[in-house]
Formats: sequence, C-alpha cells, structure tokens
Amino acid sequence: MNRLDTELRCSLADLERNGLRRNLRIIASEHGPRVVHNGVNLIMLCSNNYLGLAAHPLVKKAAIAAAERYGVGAGASRLVAGNLEPIRRLEANLADLKKTEAALVFGSGYLANLGVINALVGPGDAVFSDELNHASLIDGCRLSKAAVRIYRHCDFDHLRALLEQAVSARRRLIVTDSIFSMDGDFAPLREIVELARRFDAAVMIDEAHAVGVLGPDGAGLAAELGLEKEIDVHVGTLSKALGSYGAYVAGSSVLIDFLVNRARSFIYTTGLPPALAAAADTAIEIMKAEPQRIRRLWSNAAHLRQRLAQAGFALGSSRSPILPLHIGEAQTAIAMAARLLELGVYVIAIRPPTVPAGTARLRITPTAAHSIADLDEAADAIIQSGRELRLI
Ligand SMILES: *Cc1c(COP(=O)(O)O)cnc(C)c1O
Repeated sequence: MNRLDTELRCSLADLERNGLRRNLRIIASEHGPRVVHNGVNLIMLCSNNYLGLAAHPLVKKAAIAAAERYGVGAGASRLVAGNLEPIRRLEANLADLKKTEAALVFGSGYLANLGVINALVGPGDAVFSDELNHASLIDGCRLSKAAVRIYRHCDFDHLRALLEQAVSARRRLIVTDSIFSMDGDFAPLREIVELARRFDAAVMIDEAHAVGVLGPDGAGLAAELGLEKEIDVHVGTLSKALGSYGAYVAGSSVLIDFLVNRARSFIYTTGLPPALAAAADTAIEIMKAEPQRIRRLWSNAAHLRQRLAQAGFALGSSRSPILPLHIGEAQTAIAMAARLLELGVYVIAIRPPTVPAGTARLRITPTAAHSIADLDEAADAIIQSGRELRLI
C-alpha cells in the first residue's frame, strides 16, 4: 500500500473507534414513506421529503417531459449556453412565492450559500453567524475572508454585543438558518431584523427546512412572520420539501444581477438540468394548490412527537417537524439506528462534526406522506430500541 493510503486507513480506523465513521447505504426504490434497502421494505424517517413530492406522479411527469424536450444536461454554465427555459420559468415562480423582485437558481444549497456569502462579504467586512448554522453557511463564511463572528445559538444579546464591536467594518452581514436543520428550532428573526436595522447590517436567511413547511403557500419562516421585506437575502433549496434538486436565492433585482456577475459558485458551474427545474416548478404548484399537505406534515409530526415524548424521549427545543431524538454518545446513536434498521425503520445517527460533541442524535423526520399506521409502527420500534438501550 502506498503511504497516502496507509495514513488514510489509519484515520478511518480512528473515526471507527470513536463512532464517527460514515458509510453509504443504498436505497433501491423511489423516495416515499417507505423505501427498499437491502431488499427490505422500511419506514423512511430521515429524509427531507417533507411533503412527499420527490416521487409525486406529476412531479415525475414534469421532469420526464422536460428531459424529452430539452435533453438531460444543461450543456454549459448558465452564462454561456446552459440557461434553459425551464429555469427562467422556475425563477419567476420562486420570486412570486418569496414576494421578491427576483430569484436566481443555483446548482445546490451548498453552492448557493458558498457563492452568496463570498460575493457579498470579503476582507474588511464582518459576517455574523449562528453557531449551529448549516455547514454550507459555515464554509461560505470561512471562504469569504471576512471577519467571522460566531454568536451563541439564537442568542441575540450575544449577536448585539458582536455587532457593537464591529461598527468599523465596511459591511456587516448576519447569516442564519431559519429552521435549524439538526435541531428543528427557529431563529429569532424579529430580533435579528431589529438588530440589523440598528447596526446597519444586511440579513441572509437559509430557509432549506422552512420552505414547504411554514408560512402562506409554504413560503417559509420569514413569510410566516411577515418579515419578507426585512430580509435582504433569502436562500432556500429545491431539494427538501420540493422534492427535486438545486437551490435559489431570492431578493432585489440588483442583488440577483450582482450575484450573476460575482457569485463564483454560480458562474463557474454547469446550469441545473432542465428536468430538475421543471420538477421543482411543478412541486411549487402542488404545494400551493394542496395546502392540506403542509397541515398533514404538521399533524403527523405532532402525532409522532407526542408518542415519543410520552415514552420519555428528550426532543430538545424543536418547534418543527424535525424531531431530534437526543442520545448523547455517538456509539449509542449508531447502536440505536442499527437496531431500528432490524426493526424496519430507516433512520441515521447524526454525529459530530454535523452536531457538537456529546450531542449525537437520531434526527427523525415524519412527512406528509406517512400514514398514522406507519408512524405508530415506527414509534413502537423506536420505543422498543430505546428501552433495550436503556435510554428511556
Ligand atoms: C440541506 C441544506 C443545505 C444544502 O442544500 P443542498 O441543496 O442539499 O446542497 C443548505 N442549508 C441548509 C440549512 C440545509 O439543510
């Protein structure tokens, strides 16, 4: 074995010892309330397919029709020759959903966050970031070369103190998840917006887990709170509740025009495949036309939450359909996920560095597509495995 491989093998063994090694599992079916894994039909409880749209017949049909008409690949970056019609239509509908002047589709949420933060701040600027922000926001901050000020989770007093220290920065940008991806709690957007006004800062929010979950038409947390106009930069993904792939930034026309010119993760990458844009567009239509999906998502989450809480599980500060079942040690979380697989439930142990050390958890996400029978069966299995591991 060459030297590099020997060293890498050693690092992997370290991860294994600490319960931090990750492995890929294969799903051999479409994404629904149940999936097939290793030939077994399992209840899927860790996807972000909140509204059950990833395999909706009309969403699939839209993707197929777009592939028939426009082909599969976009062929080039959007500024060169990859700006196909379905993307333009999708952007108009996203701007309409978000009530902004314009929207811009990116290849993924990771790319959007990297590109936007880097385009907006650099040396001499300051960016303020919640300590539990998604990794893509963290990486965007790191790459930007702006001064990065990390505030304690949802602690706007701490944010205020950091803003007070940064009055000499050329530009101030506050970035936060709106619904936090691994905890399911909400950012204090009203307070953040107020601080932004007082300290002349811009606000960027990542609504990856709020689109399709909260607000009129599923527009997100800012819309739910009536704060759309106060947010400068709205980011969201097409890959979670909307069941497709890709992401968007919504805001003023000048912001979008600037990003087209300066966001490197927009400029130097191939355009989103037209089938995915058409699928997301159709998913938005369904989300708007069938608000019962969002209601069902919340009632399903309430049902499962109640069963798990009643059994004695700690679900943290979640206020959303994301149910973080707090376990603590990574090895225990892995053991529980493995046991649940045997019992017919597909969940994944979320461990550091995705979450802070000692806070490993099972992140359980019921969707609108689950039946109460699915959720009861899953709850029984979760409670059984929790008892076996003496967690409850
Ligand atoms: C999933 C997620 C992203 C990344 O989106 P992708 O389209 O999967 O790259 C960004 N931010 C948050 C908060 C997310 O949960």
